[in-house]
Amino acid sequence: MTSNGHYGPYGGQYVAETLMKPLADMEKAYHEARNDPGFKREFDEILHDYVGRESPITVCRRLTEHLGGATIVLKREDLNHTGAHKVNNTIGQALLARRMGKKRLIAETGAGMHGVATATVAALFGMPCEVYMGAIDVKRQSPNVERMKMLGATVRAVEEGSATLKDAMNEAIRDWVANCDDTFYVIGTVAGPHPYPEMVRDFQSVIGVEARRQCPEKFGRLPDEAIACVGGGSNAMGLFAGFLDDREVRLVGVEAGGRGIETGEHAASINGGRIGVLHGAKTMLLQTKSGQIIDTYSVSAGLDYPGVGPEHCHLHDIGRAEYSVINDDEAVAAFDALCRYEGIIPALESSHALAEAIRRAPKMPKGSILLVNLSGRGDKDMENIMEYKRRIGK
Ligand SMILES: *Cc1c(COP(=O)(O)O)cnc(C)c1O
Repeated sequence: MTSNGHYGPYGGQYVAETLMKPLADMEKAYHEARNDPGFKREFDEILHDYVGRESPITVCRRLTEHLGGATIVLKREDLNHTGAHKVNNTIGQALLARRMGKKRLIAETGAGMHGVATATVAALFGMPCEVYMGAIDVKRQSPNVERMKMLGATVRAVEEGSATLKDAMNEAIRDWVANCDDTFYVIGTVAGPHPYPEMVRDFQSVIGVEARRQCPEKFGRLPDEAIACVGGGSNAMGLFAGFLDDREVRLVGVEAGGRGIETGEHAASINGGRIGVLHGAKTMLLQTKSGQIIDTYSVSAGLDYPGVGPEHCHLHDIGRAEYSVINDDEAVAAFDALCRYEGIIPALESSHALAEAIRRAPKMPKGSILLVNLSGRGDKDMENIMEYKRRIGK
């Protein structure tokens, strides 16, 4: 990061004047918290006692044998309480909210996973919670809507625009502008205005920091490549953060190619987008020639976001990380492979990262190591997968 939340030409704070003060307050409070050993101790303790960290790394023995070449190793974020990496971040932000004296949490959610993770910590901390969700997503993701309600949160269906994630995010920002004195806006990924991308990366960096220690313990060295799927980019940034200074570790982000980049039906913001401003930051965006945000598509609802975290755009530009694309059918094939070869049902989002490893492993020498972030478990995707298979007739 250069200064004031800029990553090369990306990032920054493109927000209404009324939000400049709340963002400055948040930045100050966060930087103080980050340097407070007490804050770090409490964060670590909750991650250990409540989330169940640290999460292990697991060698995929049968899958590796089947493919030949590199050894595929998983970082098991699927084993976290609530079933994915998102809870690492919501715990960090809820702790910061409490420290800042905020009484109420709000969040946006697309597939509902971030909404569930926020509702979870709201219950844990005894704070009221409202989650904005596009009306279409409320219909598509009804089990997660029920989960949020079960946990005591209020779900607000957003009918504006295309009634999906970006509209939910706009509504959450509107709520925050009106209520920022007592309300903390919990953003679910490394997007949004500064300091969110930095803060969310730091909270998620536990993934990469653990893996950076675990790989040498198990293999006597670092992995050759660290691979993660990229929606907004928080699980990938969390993994990459552990290895940024290890130039010999290649960092690979995987975007959702949906039905194929050439069809226009995808969610690959870095590979298929152009620079623009969305949700308070300059970033790579899927947009029309005139700058209208394009509706994204992916079989995995969690990757379905038209932007991407600004730091990823910068890592791409400077060549520190590379960003590839995996289509729906490749992701579903990887999903099947992990189920059958390893007895692990992965999230469809994570299956994109796994598919990239499956593509690379056979071309690499035996003994090389591909570390894949298994960002979540796939129980939530059963319906979706069965629907997809019916459609393609398998
Ligand atoms: C939300 C989600 C993602 C995508 O979000 P990032 O911010 O890109 O990590 C990936 N995997 C799982 C399991 C998710 O729930």
